[in-house]
Amino acid sequence: MVKAEAVHKHFGPVQVLKGIDLEVRSGEVFCIVGPSGSGKSTFLRCINHLEKINAGRLYVDGTLVGYREKNGKLHELRDREVAEQRRGIGMVFQRFNLFPHMTAVENVMEAPVQVKGVSKKEARERAEQLLDRVGLGDKKANYPAQLSGGQQQRVAIARALAMDPKLMLFDEPTSALDPELVGEVLDVMRDLARDGMTMVVVTHEMGFAREVGDSLVFMDDGVVVESGNPRDVLGNPQHERTKSFLSKVL
Ligand code: ADP
Ligand code: MG
Repeated sequence: MVKAEAVHKHFGPVQVLKGIDLEVRSGEVFCIVGPSGSGKSTFLRCINHLEKINAGRLYVDGTLVGYREKNGKLHELRDREVAEQRRGIGMVFQRFNLFPHMTAVENVMEAPVQVKGVSKKEARERAEQLLDRVGLGDKKANYPAQLSGGQQQRVAIARALAMDPKLMLFDEPTSALDPELVGEVLDVMRDLARDGMTMVVVTHEMGFAREVGDSLVFMDDGVVVESGNPRDVLGNPQHERTKSFLSKVL
């Protein structure tokens, strides 16, 4: 579902991704862990072309992200084509980014109506189903300010699912939550994984990574230091940098 080959990204003189190689298989939960500033968010943003890579190749579902290759040369896609690619990818951030002036159900139906041209009636029905699915059947008419952080994050997940993505990207989805609200969001993600969604999850929740993750990479300073089965990498890290990071977070 995702393939990165020697992905490089710099911001001015700052090299942030220094050759990322990895493969996310369809249907798996792929966790990315690593210290702050190691390039995790930047890498996620490259997957949906919110950031443009400077070298290497990045594919989603077999298609080059953001570019077309012709006679060995890369040509950047038009905005409309990039938007088309992004439509297949749902993203959930640390901050929930809900529209504050819209209710939960309106937040979830917005993109299908505006972007896909789905009728309001159909979009509302689907949005209600999705809110039921994330356990918010009784909060459909609430505005974000009337929801807890965990509830808002579950609305954000429902909103991403409303576009029927083939891939979901999560960037520290529980980091901004009070500790007692983390579990309800992880439960929704666990359900999603059980249903076979392909997920790339940047997280500091090592318990989640170990239980739900199928693969895990440890990133540091723009490279993948170590990768494998989450239980192996977390339980028996091979590299000094991984050991040192884990000793601080576990
Ligand atoms: P992580 O998510 O692992 O904490 P990030 O991908 O957010 O790391 O950031 C990696 C590095 O890239 C940091 O040094 C950060 O300051 C830098 N960076 C990220 N985005 C930008 C940007 N838009 N412009 C300049 N530097 C950036
Ligand atoms: Mg980050």
